[in-house]
Amino acid sequence: REPLLKVEGLTKHFPVRSGLWGKGSVVRAVENVNFEVHPGETLGLVGESGCGKTTTGRMLVRLLEPTAGKITFDGEDITHTKGARLRKLRQDIQIIFQDPYASLNPRHTVGRIVAMPLQVNGITPPGGVKRRVQELLETVGLNPEHYNRYPHEFSGGQRQRIGIARALALKPKLIVADEPVSALDVSIQAQVVNLLRQLQRDLGLSFVFIAHDLAVVRHFCERIAVMYLGRMVEVGTRQQIYENPAHPYTRALLSAVPDVTKLGGHGRIKLEGDVPSPIDPPSGCVFHTRCWKAQEKCSAEAPVLLPNPNGSISACHFPETGEVV
Ligand code: SF4
Repeated sequence: REPLLKVEGLTKHFPVRSGLWGKGSVVRAVENVNFEVHPGETLGLVGESGCGKTTTGRMLVRLLEPTAGKITFDGEDITHTKGARLRKLRQDIQIIFQDPYASLNPRHTVGRIVAMPLQVNGITPPGGVKRRVQELLETVGLNPEHYNRYPHEFSGGQRQRIGIARALALKPKLIVADEPVSALDVSIQAQVVNLLRQLQRDLGLSFVFIAHDLAVVRHFCERIAVMYLGRMVEVGTRQQIYENPAHPYTRALLSAVPDVTKLGGHGRIKLEGDVPSPIDPPSGCVFHTRCWKAQEKCSAEAPVLLPNPNGSISACHFPETGEVV
């Protein structure tokens, strides 16, 4: 099966113009990231803040230009696509943002917000724009009669549903969901994740679902890629990641998921220190400054992604082989 999305060697460096590190330095936000997403599949992109997951998501929808690497979508190299082709591409790949409060214009009605992508692209759906907007509101579980209301009249969860309706307006094939539930109450998070799952099933959508912990992606993502300091450190199926993670960082993230700690027998692993600066990342394995398994080799030599006995691939000189911590 051909992947819908293929990412090869994706890299993003931001030049530093001032501040402590001075001119000439670069923020190595994303380094040589590779992954694929198949039609109808959901890939979770997980890591602490500053790991490069949001920058990766923004490069996929071409809100950011990659420094190096290649993005192939539906068989076409879209890495540097511009002009009319880029506008067409933006119909096929949509993004849902983290903050439903900030991403909706408070002065526009919900109807206008959801209709905007249709109008910008000069699309008049059969039956008219209003009917399509109402259909979309219904699809995301909102009252279609509320198209004349303003964002402030809706709750946080409902506002995120409006953002999802807007993303669906152009019938995309892939949605990049950038922490779509992080700003919502825990009680509402499951409802929004369930809506996304339902849309994936009903519309055959593919998702790149960005999250900062492994709890949210657990019930939604078939495959999970864990990132640390701009690098991919482990990629595996849900089962491989949750039942037998190979990379120490994945183990640490997983140990913070309450149910998994109870059920899987993993002890809580508390990481010491902060994530190092992406301007001056540690030598060798970038996780060695916080890794309880680090040995001499770890600071001297950068590990590459290799297959593990559990079936996942991870970048670690001393991956876990099976027994729980
Ligand atoms: Fe830890 Fe070494 Fe593996 Fe890096 S390579 S994760 S420092 S054991």
